Amino acid sequence: MQYDVIIGLEVHAELKTESKCFCSCKNEYGSSPNRNCCPVCMALPGALPVLNKKAVEQTIRAGLALGFEINQTAIFERKNYFYPDLSKAYQISQLEKPICINGHLKVFDKEIPINRIHLEEDAGKLIHQDDLSMIDYNRCGVPLIELVTDALVEPHIETADEAIEFLTKLRQIYIYAGVADCEMEKGQMRADVNISLRPKGSKEFGTKVEMKNIMGFKSIHRAINYEIERQKEILDDGGVIVQETRKWDNDKGESYSLRTKENAEDYRYFPDPDLLAVNISNEEIQKIKESMPLLPDQLKKVFLEEYGLNEYDSDVILANKEVSDLYRACLEMYFQPKSVANWFTTEILARIKAEDKIQIDKENLVWIIKSVDEKKIRRNAAKDLLSYIWGTGLNAEAEAKKQGIMADMSSDAVFEILDKVLQEKASVVDQFKQEQDPKILNYLVGQVMKETRGKANAQEVMEKLKERLS
Ligand SMILES: [Zn+2]
Repeated sequence: MQYDVIIGLEVHAELKTESKCFCSCKNEYGSSPNRNCCPVCMALPGALPVLNKKAVEQTIRAGLALGFEINQTAIFERKNYFYPDLSKAYQISQLEKPICINGHLKVFDKEIPINRIHLEEDAGKLIHQDDLSMIDYNRCGVPLIELVTDALVEPHIETADEAIEFLTKLRQIYIYAGVADCEMEKGQMRADVNISLRPKGSKEFGTKVEMKNIMGFKSIHRAINYEIERQKEILDDGGVIVQETRKWDNDKGESYSLRTKENAEDYRYFPDPDLLAVNISNEEIQKIKESMPLLPDQLKKVFLEEYGLNEYDSDVILANKEVSDLYRACLEMYFQPKSVANWFTTEILARIKAEDKIQIDKENLVWIIKSVDEKKIRRNAAKDLLSYIWGTGLNAEAEAKKQGIMADMSSDAVFEILDKVLQEKASVVDQFKQEQDPKILNYLVGQVMKETRGKANAQEVMEKLKERLS
């Protein structure tokens, strides 16, 4: 039987803020366990939450970057559940009136509708070691945004490839907008995936199966394809899909049932009596709009139309914000978009792939690129120089001089000698003009190289010679 596949995504991202969502504890990754905690994020009796304005601002920023409408009144609710990663036994979240509603994101050729983005607090982290379970509450109360795609309206995400493209683009947008760092290995971005199948052409939805907290895009891709196949087999055999949450085991490449799915009513949401409704003014929204940096799609337009780069080079540079920031900073000093891009798509990216970190500043990089363009250093020598100073803080120019890799003569001095040779060899020049024999050109270049004692760039001499004789 043929099926339509409907994939829904719920994506959590930790916001970039100084402090937590409802208290003044630091929002910081990697501190020693239970260091950034206080009575508020632990919900000790009598402690009252105070909303962090910056967290609301960041949520609005995320919404605007994805074309959302901003609700001018948003409310916080308590989502009740008992689990040791949250000492409150409830999570402050939003159900009825989230901050952002009705956004969209273009995935390949489809504009995927997004239902909402709401602001909530993150839970702590459980660490299991042998027989022991430990809890680190540092993450409790860290501002978290949850984005939910709208699987009830067309079009849907239908394949694993589309889901990954969606997540990749979303991550890029959050990073470029300055909303979140989204470092996957730090758990700063996490995705839950739900999947349902229905007979091709049917309007009714099938039963959803959810997979929570799958680590990494590659695992998500595998997990989706596995789940589609699993449901197909059950349906083809005349079975029924059980509404449940399944856990993906990436080592085994399969999933197993975790629990049958709870519905929203199981959480007994109710408005948090300790928090006032959030009022967001038009002026506030306008201010955030005006401070929005250029996002990947806008930058790509600039790269293609103003810089004349091709699609591939643009995508490669834009894939990493640090790389594209450095690229643009270099252009501010030396506006040769293609020549600079050439270094980025080869030398710089190769190093970043290996080390995950840019270890050269724009001044030194521009000096190297420019020196090659001006033929002061040969390309291969420049590549070696880049490797040599990468990560050391050494100065490119000083190092080039020290290593003696700079062309010894300035172009002007070389051209003077060229002109002298042309005068002396006037008869050879005449002969060339009649016969157009390339051997004669080689002979003249050789004469110049001899005069300069090999200190000129032969290729440059040849180009200049052709120019003179044309
Ligand atoms: Zn706190």
